[in-house]
Amino acid sequence: MFEKILIANRGEIALRIHRACREMGIHTVAVHSTADADAMHVRLADESVCIGPPSAKESYLNIPAILTAAAITGADAIHPGVGFMSENANFAEMVEEHGFVFIGPTPEHIRLMGDKVTAKKTVKKLGLPTVPGSDGAVETVEEAQKVAAKTGYPVLIKASAGGGGKGMKIANNESEVAEAYQLARGEARISFGNDEVYMERYLANPRHIEVQLIGDTHGNAIHFGERDCSIQRRHQKVLEEAPSPGLNACERVKIGELAAKVIQKIGYRGVGTIEFLYENGEFFFIEMNTRLQVEHTITEMITGIDLVREQIRVACGLPLSYKQEDISFNGHAIECRINAENPETFAPSPGQIKGFHAPGGLGVRVDSALYDGYHVPTYYDSMIAKLVVHGSNRNECLLRLRRSLEEFFIGGIDTTLPLHQSIISQPDFINGDYTIHWLEHFLNME
Ligand code: ADP
Repeated sequence: MFEKILIANRGEIALRIHRACREMGIHTVAVHSTADADAMHVRLADESVCIGPPSAKESYLNIPAILTAAAITGADAIHPGVGFMSENANFAEMVEEHGFVFIGPTPEHIRLMGDKVTAKKTVKKLGLPTVPGSDGAVETVEEAQKVAAKTGYPVLIKASAGGGGKGMKIANNESEVAEAYQLARGEARISFGNDEVYMERYLANPRHIEVQLIGDTHGNAIHFGERDCSIQRRHQKVLEEAPSPGLNACERVKIGELAAKVIQKIGYRGVGTIEFLYENGEFFFIEMNTRLQVEHTITEMITGIDLVREQIRVACGLPLSYKQEDISFNGHAIECRINAENPETFAPSPGQIKGFHAPGGLGVRVDSALYDGYHVPTYYDSMIAKLVVHGSNRNECLLRLRRSLEEFFIGGIDTTLPLHQSIISQPDFINGDYTIHWLEHFLNME
């Protein structure tokens, strides 16, 4: 097993990884920008190295600085966390070239699945259903119009390098295609430095269902069931639950086995998630994430398995500790992503925390790097805490979540805690009756 892991991230996810390492007897190295010198991930790590100024480009995305930090501290492996370098194949390659283990898939697998066009072609060949649309990249407006006429309206134009809901535009009729096409390409160029786009039918009322997977270097691959991440704003997840209130046990097993077979066939190492849209009893692949995800916590709550621990074990070359038949699902879990934002306008709300009280009790987990007096910096993602609640069934989970949200106090800045309180008190949500458009409709109605 590794003796020392450098965690190339910050905030709650850096802490999450630190915790798994600690329990495995592995020493941790935190890296940080000058803005994060007082951060909790730095305070708790065994060692820390400052890797640059506040801007992420010069610190958490600074490959030479991260590799130097690993070298001077004698780390064996680098965990990229989520976001930042976690899906950067060049980074994974350089980590390994410099003699460290990258805790994640091979650079080849990150490339294969990171490009959505090649990912879609690959999984289609391996038997996964995909959203009807273009056969690959769409090079011109004329081609886009032809694909749209064949696929039917509305259509979605999506960036091949897409992520975070960027570079995605809807066209409702032929005259909208040209504009949407140009807008999507422009946004993709700015966001990803790659303006290739492809097209898909825009599904009217799907749920976002994703399957948690892991593969090892011994040819084993298993699934941990699904998560429902349909509660979204601007194509970004706000609240997630497992299992999905929209699937039955038979569908769960079927989609899980199908997804696990795909990663087994490509010889995938590490944790990963295959995302689907689900509508009228049908699944359609949309993308694969070749990393740990923010919402892995709800899967941990219903399976009792530490996914980060398993991720570290397989990166080290050990076989999976579990077989598919060892995985069972117990109860229900919901995660609320709590952001430093105004709950109505969603304007970022950085600043000093004045008073902090996290909820507790049976079935309640708070993953957060906040503390009283901490200053939430302006430079990074606005997510400051994840409230994760488990109950023996969905109803118990909802009641526990309601009381946990009431107990949660974060003073000094605006947070999205009131938004979560309002979502979970809506009859549609209580009934599990929602799709990917539900939250946007609800926010527009208010
Ligand atoms: P990203 O990588 O930017 O997150 P995804 O392909 O994962 O992009 O899609 C993000 C979200 O966008 C989905 O969860 C869903 O809400 C919406 N979406 C994506 N593709 C479609 C589609 N074909 N029809 C309707 N909604 C879609």
